[in-house]
Amino acid sequence: MKINHRGVILGIIEKVSGPIVIANKMLGAKMYDVVKVGDSSLIGEIIQLNEDKAIIQVYEDTAGIRPGEKVETTEHPLSVNLGPGLIANIYDGIQRPLEKIEKESGVYISKGISINSLDLKKKWDFIANKDLKRNAEVKEGDVLGYVQETDIIKHYIMVPPGVKGKLDELKSGKMTITQTVATVKDGSKKIEIPMMQMRAVRKAGKYKNKLMVDEPLITGQRVIDTFFPIAKGGTAAVPGAFGTGKTVIQHQLAKWSDAQIIIYIGCGERGNEMTEVLTEFPELKDPKTGKPLMERTILIANTSNMPVAAREASIYTGITIAEYFRDMGYDIAVMADSTSRWAEAMREVSARLEEMPGEEGYPAYLPKRLAEFYERGGKVETLNGKQGSITIIGAVSPPGGDISEPVSQGTLRITKTFWALDAALASSRHFPSINWLSSYSLYDGNLKNWYLKNIGKEFIENRDQAMKILQREAELKNIVQLVGADALPDSERIILEVGRMIRENFLFQSAYDNIDTFSSLKKQYMMLDLILHFNMLAEKAVKEVSAEKIMQLDAKKEISRMRETSEKDFTAFAENTKKRIEKAFSDLLKANQ
Ligand code: ADP
Ligand code: MG
Repeated sequence: MKINHRGVILGIIEKVSGPIVIANKMLGAKMYDVVKVGDSSLIGEIIQLNEDKAIIQVYEDTAGIRPGEKVETTEHPLSVNLGPGLIANIYDGIQRPLEKIEKESGVYISKGISINSLDLKKKWDFIANKDLKRNAEVKEGDVLGYVQETDIIKHYIMVPPGVKGKLDELKSGKMTITQTVATVKDGSKKIEIPMMQMRAVRKAGKYKNKLMVDEPLITGQRVIDTFFPIAKGGTAAVPGAFGTGKTVIQHQLAKWSDAQIIIYIGCGERGNEMTEVLTEFPELKDPKTGKPLMERTILIANTSNMPVAAREASIYTGITIAEYFRDMGYDIAVMADSTSRWAEAMREVSARLEEMPGEEGYPAYLPKRLAEFYERGGKVETLNGKQGSITIIGAVSPPGGDISEPVSQGTLRITKTFWALDAALASSRHFPSINWLSSYSLYDGNLKNWYLKNIGKEFIENRDQAMKILQREAELKNIVQLVGADALPDSERIILEVGRMIRENFLFQSAYDNIDTFSSLKKQYMMLDLILHFNMLAEKAVKEVSAEKIMQLDAKKEISRMRETSEKDFTAFAENTKKRIEKAFSDLLKANQ
């Protein structure tokens, strides 16, 4: 063991194999310590230790480092810096701000560059918690005060992990994130607390209790909110072949869902998709507050051209930042696009370590890693007694769209909402391509009371009825394929017609249309209600007139205008349309007499 002037352990690189570096003379280093590898000080993490031999996963491109170069431990686990300034940032997998890296090195990312993840010079207006008096006992998670970080986010400053004691001093004022805002006495020890804290990323953060999820995350996406809702604090899997709309759904949720903070992890996908996010998001406004959407968003980008090992880091970095904000009592939504690329990185690292491969070459610990990630979601009572939640929505990219593969299966076993993206729907341009017959939400029971209280039992009745029509439509379509539509009785031809209306005017939703891109729950209810009103009148009428005549009704066209009618005009539109449909049917029946 060689100790340098700062007292850190210095090892020697023995071998470099892609993202994996083997170093000798590392005695005394700890598992999961962050190390600086090679003369260019690349960031890595010890993932195995064998006496004095360390196996290091490097989060940067290892081309150019050679055996014989040094390795230095930092004696810290992989951690993130947390404090005011996080919001609206764009980070890489190991929390380096991307825009800054771009400016300083002229390329997207350069090696071993060490840049602070938070602005250390900026002064924030810290407002001390008035309820805390001198000598009050404080412990991890207690709120010391806050900074108004953006117009919509109060950033609470909490006692960092592992700290407790009697409050000695706490003062408001303009301060940088490294200046002391509070001092705490723990016995004879005096601890200075700045606004910035660090947390190790691999371990789940602490909380008091897990709570039952009982509120939906409203996404503005009709097929999701009405048929397959996800709870705040819930988990969802979005598996689908290439081009089925995984990224668009993740973007839609990042833009429109009613979480208070969005953490978007672009993991191993093409760079241009992330560029889209980076250029588009800063332009967007929150429909509720009218403020820029970036004021509640943090982006983590680890695109396919960046080192594979950092994909894992991007996942852990994202979820740890989410936990930090959850502890302030916020509802967080985390999107990860795509968890399959993370799994592929695990597979690559595992192969280089010559571990015994599990299914399809993935390491045997793949299901466990996936489970640990999703288990960091949930609704909790925080250490300081607030309620906060983390909703996790993970895209999965099964090769060829076949979800029998290990990543899809491992994910589906844990997540409780399943939005099955369907290549056939996508190729017929039905978006979102969420298959309404094979998708599910296991949160129905938990959310029922919320829906009853906030939107009414008619909403649930309509939803159930619409689903029955869709299921019946699918059966009838099979029959039609065999024997032709003429063989169906008129009453069943009405079902086909109404099924089509539900699909084309309700389930179909364009992400690119200014009005259609978001529907409030109320609009969703009114839309479905109109279709079902038509259905009710058609069911009655078809006893007296032909299905043919009903399908020719002009009033039907009104329904196809629902998607283009704005929230503001919708109530009046719905009332009018209802009247017109009623008149059309009564005219039809009169003409028939
Ligand atoms: P994936 O991430 O699954 O490969 P994308 O999310 O990139 O697929 O979607 C592929 C294409 O499908 C998009 O570029 C867009 O043209 C279309 N698309 C997907 N979802 C929608 C939607 N809700 N509205 C309109 N077009 C959509
Ligand atoms: Mg994609």
